[in-house]
Amino acid sequence: MKKDDDVNHGSAASNRVLSRRSFLRVSVAGAAIASAGGLSACMSRPMAAGKTSKAEAAYQDTPNRGQRCAGCTHFQKPNGCEIVTGEISPNGWCRFYEALPA
Ligand code: SF4
Repeated sequence: MKKDDDVNHGSAASNRVLSRRSFLRVSVAGAAIASAGGLSACMSRPMAAGKTSKAEAAYQDTPNRGQRCAGCTHFQKPNGCEIVTGEISPNGWCRFYEALPA
C-alpha cells in the first residue's frame, strides 16, 4: 500500500504535500548553491579582479618545500604571475601556489 505522500490524488491535501516537497527541493537546491558560494569565498585564491601584492601573497624568492613558481599553474614565463604583481622568479613561491596538473 502506498502512502499519501507517494501518490498524487489531485486533492488539496496532496497538492499541499507536493507543494511542501517542491519547497523543500528548492530549499535544498538553494542551500547547496549558497554553500558553493560560501566555499568559493573561503578559497585561498583572490577572487577580485586585479593582482595581489607580493606582501599579501606572502611571496618569497625561494622555493617552499619543493614548490616553486615554475611548477605553478599561475606562472607566466619568463617571470610573471597571473595573480601576484611584479617580477616573479621561477624559483619563487607564494601562498597561492597551485601545482601544475601531472
Ligand atoms: S607560486 Fe604564487 S607567485 Fe608563484 S606563480 Fe604561483 S601564484 Fe604566482
